[in-house]
Amino acid sequence: MTPETLSLSPPSRLNWPTTLVLLLLHAGAIAALFVFNWRVFAAAVALYWIITGLGISTGYHRLHTHRSYAAPLWLEHLLAVLGALTLEGGPIFWVATHRIHHQKSDQPGDPHSPRDGGWWAHVGWILFGEANHNRTWTMAKYAPDLAKDPFYVWLNNYHWAPNVVLAALLLALGGLPLFLWAGCLRIVAGLHATWLVNSATHMWGSRRFTTRDDSRNNWWVALLTFGEGWHNNHHAHPTSARHGLAWYEFDPSWLLIRVWKALGVVKKVQVVTVKGETAVRQAA
Ligand SMILES: [Zn+2]
Ligand SMILES: [Zn+2]
Repeated sequence: MTPETLSLSPPSRLNWPTTLVLLLLHAGAIAALFVFNWRVFAAAVALYWIITGLGISTGYHRLHTHRSYAAPLWLEHLLAVLGALTLEGGPIFWVATHRIHHQKSDQPGDPHSPRDGGWWAHVGWILFGEANHNRTWTMAKYAPDLAKDPFYVWLNNYHWAPNVVLAALLLALGGLPLFLWAGCLRIVAGLHATWLVNSATHMWGSRRFTTRDDSRNNWWVALLTFGEGWHNNHHAHPTSARHGLAWYEFDPSWLLIRVWKALGVVKKVQVVTVKGETAVRQAA
């Protein structure tokens, strides 16, 4: 990475289109509270699991970024479409940003480190950072494995398109309440849950491993993100498909990957076994 091609450090100018979309989504999420019913609530929860759980945790993160297991191409592509439905950007953008995060964790060049401020790590880097979604070919340097697949390049350029289709479906099937709940509120909840992995789990929680970054294991972020909150485990062992390493570290995405493996859908599942590691625990 050279500074003239990609600057990921604060401060910078406001990304107006992204900011506007995020403001509208938050307005929609608040409006959803006034049209509550159990049917749309259940639909939002189901889509939250399918889209954020499968798309981000088992997809963009554990498969596309870290290749902690091998999946057939149809499943890879399906998980990438689900990842795009979170509105966290296309697969090349997401994977490249996250690989840079692992390379530079909490050091200069980390796109979202709380050392630049908790707010910056949570959402400031998206509102003000230079890491925008349109630099497919710049980001492709960090995700060459994805950039050689035309489908991923297309999805990266039109990462918003699946959500337009889904929004139209939600409006057609359940009108405004379903759109606000399973569209706006579901997206906003997924964004903040994922952003908490960048902010909270680099600030609050315990540390089993002495990594060179500030990563923590945080149980409540893990609950919101299907196991992504066991972030200190993950930084210590990035290619492990299993993030929750103790029996009490609930990791739904790992359970799902195990089911897929038992069914023969996925292969080459990488799992870390913890033996002889020094447990370094720090207060939250
Ligand atoms: Zn991290
Ligand atoms: Zn990671």
